Amino acid sequence: MTKPVILVADDDPQVLAALRRDLRPQYGKTYSIIGAPSGEEAVKAMQELRVRGDALALVITDQRMPGIQGTEVLTRTLELYAEARRVLLTAYSDIDAAVRAINEAHINHYLSKPWDPPEERLYPVVDEQLDNWQADRLPETTGLRLVGHQWSPRSHRIKDFLASNLVPYKWIDVEKHPEAEELMRASGLAESQLPALCFEDGAVLCDPEPRAVAERLGRQLNATHDLYDLVIVGAGPAGLAAAVYGASEGLKTLLVDRHAAGGQAGSSSKIENYLGFPTGVSGSDLTRRAVMQAQRLGAEMIVPLEVAGVTIDAGYKHLTLADGREIVTRTMLASTGMSYREHPATGVAEHAGAGVYYGAATTEAAAFTGRRVLVVGGGNSAGQGAMYLSRYAESVHLIVRRDGVRDTMSTYLIDQIEKTPNIQIRTRTELCRVEGAGHVERVTLISLPGGAEQEEPFDAVFVFIGTRPRSDWLPVEVLRDRKGFVLTGRDLMASEAYARVWKEMREPLALETSAPGVFAAGDIRFGAMNRVASAVGEGSMVVRLVHEYLALT
Ligand SMILES: Cc1cc2nc3c(=O)[nH]c(=O)nc-3n(C[C@H](O)[C@H](O)[C@H](O)COP(=O)(O)OP(=O)(O)OC[C@H]3O[C@@H](n4cnc5c(N)ncnc54)[C@H](O)[C@@H]3O)c2cc1C
Repeated sequence: MTKPVILVADDDPQVLAALRRDLRPQYGKTYSIIGAPSGEEAVKAMQELRVRGDALALVITDQRMPGIQGTEVLTRTLELYAEARRVLLTAYSDIDAAVRAINEAHINHYLSKPWDPPEERLYPVVDEQLDNWQADRLPETTGLRLVGHQWSPRSHRIKDFLASNLVPYKWIDVEKHPEAEELMRASGLAESQLPALCFEDGAVLCDPEPRAVAERLGRQLNATHDLYDLVIVGAGPAGLAAAVYGASEGLKTLLVDRHAAGGQAGSSSKIENYLGFPTGVSGSDLTRRAVMQAQRLGAEMIVPLEVAGVTIDAGYKHLTLADGREIVTRTMLASTGMSYREHPATGVAEHAGAGVYYGAATTEAAAFTGRRVLVVGGGNSAGQGAMYLSRYAESVHLIVRRDGVRDTMSTYLIDQIEKTPNIQIRTRTELCRVEGAGHVERVTLISLPGGAEQEEPFDAVFVFIGTRPRSDWLPVEVLRDRKGFVLTGRDLMASEAYARVWKEMREPLALETSAPGVFAAGDIRFGAMNRVASAVGEGSMVVRLVHEYLALT
């Protein structure tokens, strides 16, 4: 099999030679390192690689070249190889070019010249980019393969579980991929047994539950202690931050999640406003780093594991799991965030997983290459989803009920969307009906006000509307507002029920709920900021409060 390629481009022969010289000993065994003396040659090389079907892992290009400049090379890279990592090489003083490249070519990193010593300034950057590229792909013929029907909700469920848990796999659509027949024959699979997950060692799981997949992948599924200092329910940014701080500060810490680490942020194709990531960071990259950090520091993590209820007895919190088991802890953090609200339009529920997806843009985008897709919602999550889908789809139609998206979407996203020719924002438009034989084929939209109906062909509908807090698993002792957001600290003290419920001699701690020793952080909390950074901040803060609480008891 041919090696994946690292392409480097620079019109200065000395810089180009130095780059190849430094990269070759470190990466030459696993990657082919190809040099291009101009932007035109770099684009030509990528086109040739594509025709040959070779994998392109990384492009490092100088910005200032005559003819096609670095930013344009990286824009073309995105079109030709959407998954390839893109690094711009700039002069130390050329920060403007770097900023432009971040905005226009969505680069993954910028590297200043000179990069000496490479051990400190070049290899860490290249390692990180290649690790991220590798994590998102599997070699064509080996590894985990999922075979099934594109329009099967069961297939979508497994795809979503694998993708959300950052497990690389190859999707094989029985109707499209020629190797499906051979794989099914070799694994002794009948069509009625699909979807099926085929492992490298020949083992097969037919239509498995997420827990069975996790078990087969060797993930931890049982708690190892009878009593924890801190159990964190929900492994989004708030929960992950609490796990990092809890474990690093010596607390016996367990983190559980019903679906996958990363939470809503994990499904984000690019988080642009998280401090310290000037080129943005994808939700999966951020999650991968956070999970590694939490586990390296000693936090236990169990996924998938759903907490169904909690009882509190003499200060001990007994968590009842959805499978009936129990975990006991001295303190607990509720960081179960929010989930999308179901869309009420006719036909949406029937097509869930068969062309209708809730926020699953990164999981399903590639399946809609060259197709026409609809995005419902005007918030940042819808904007990011539309941008990601636009890499694959022929056209993306984003519908909102309002006059525009200025009040609901960040300016940087609006700017990006305006510069993306295959995304169309359609204002004053509502989804009325979804139809199709077994999968989405047609959608009826209504123009507001008035309600003129229009039927249009669409292959998929991605829903990013309204969210609701996931707090129904908490016990009645934990006070919530009308919508279900959990009251903590001062907000709790301001509530009417406070005097009746709070029996301690002290005031509640800042992120403590009305049940002593039960904390809440992130989007589930009343007054939350709904940002990755604020969720991380609150999750980190909770650990300090846990210490205070434990010192009191
Ligand atoms: C697509 C998208 C893009 C976004 N982009 C940005 C951005 O660019 N910048 C930004 O600042 N913010 C962004 N946000 C918002 C940000 O992601 C959220 O504010 C943040 O994730 C909230 O973190 P959290 O930890 O409170 O909860 P969540 O991220 O919602 O995580 C909650 C976790 O709890 C788990 N859970 C729920 N119930 C249970 C249960 N009973 N048992 C066990 N586990 C359970 C869920 O599976 C989930 O993993 C985006 C959100 C979305 C959806």
